[in-house]
Amino acid sequence: LMQLAVPLNFIGFIYREIRQGLTDIEQMFDLLDVKAEVIDSAHAAPLRIKAGKVEFRDVQFSYEPDRPILKGISFEVPAGKTVAIVGPSGAGKSTISRLLFRFYDVQSGSILIDGQDVREVTQESLRSSIGMVPQDTVLFNDTIAYNIRYGRIAASEEEVRRAAELAQITTFIEGLPEGYEAMVGERGLKLSGGEKQRVAIARTILKAPPILILDEATSALDTHTEQEIQSALDLVSRDRTTIVIAHRLSTVISADEIIVLKEGNIEERGTHAALLAQGGLYASMWDRQREATEAEERLRIARETD
Ligand code: ATP
Repeated sequence: LMQLAVPLNFIGFIYREIRQGLTDIEQMFDLLDVKAEVIDSAHAAPLRIKAGKVEFRDVQFSYEPDRPILKGISFEVPAGKTVAIVGPSGAGKSTISRLLFRFYDVQSGSILIDGQDVREVTQESLRSSIGMVPQDTVLFNDTIAYNIRYGRIAASEEEVRRAAELAQITTFIEGLPEGYEAMVGERGLKLSGGEKQRVAIARTILKAPPILILDEATSALDTHTEQEIQSALDLVSRDRTTIVIAHRLSTVISADEIIVLKEGNIEERGTHAALLAQGGLYASMWDRQREATEAEERLRIARETD
């Protein structure tokens, strides 16, 4: 009996080790907000980008059963064009970008890039083809140069500087005593939301992905910062297939198409002018936002003249 107890114990030990390992992996995916069940299909091939067209075909998706988030969404982003997605909070805007990255699989319908289903290509090739400028960029506890270079580790110093210039962040960097070598992040210099976003833009310029997702900050930026960021974004999205989760008027106005999401459906779609003329949900969102922006601007001027 003793002879048997030892191997059983040993198996128990191995089992616990494996369980622990799995738990760690699960926790890691939790942290990244990624589900581990998305895996490459056995015959996955690298994504081949030809022009960079993105297509959602009748996509249905829910995170939990019985709570549909996208209820059959179809739209196309022609190569090099910009589609803005707008809609109330919780409408499913960010979900669209997570699905494009294939952090989750759709329940029905499909997502295609240049005709290739995202479920049929390697995740590595998919994710390296898409650039993301998030609302809130995480900075590493390292130099500002490193944080920009993260977009393409092999980039030269000259390329890092060029990207910073295009992202309109050089004035800020050059104003720092240590310039590009200044330490940033939690333990270093804290950057404002607008500065962090420009670091993210510089990273994306270095990465130069054929497809771009911009998740605009909801928080109000002052007009000057907004203009600076806008011109940097215009530059990075020019001739690139771009999906923008839009909160700013300036981006939506210039989008090739605006998709208005509401409760998991496309409520309206069209250009800014067409949607305004329609006088529906978009027109009322626009009116409310314009009033809010004007009120903020009046408040700011009042504070400045105080
Ligand atoms: P906002 O403008 O507020 O960022 P959104 O339109 O981007 O909103 P999503 O982030 O796409 O909305 O979320 C859509 C819905 O899905 C929300 O009701 C949200 O609570 C839910 N949701 C988001 N992520 C998860 C998740 N990981 N698990 C379960 N439900 C989720």
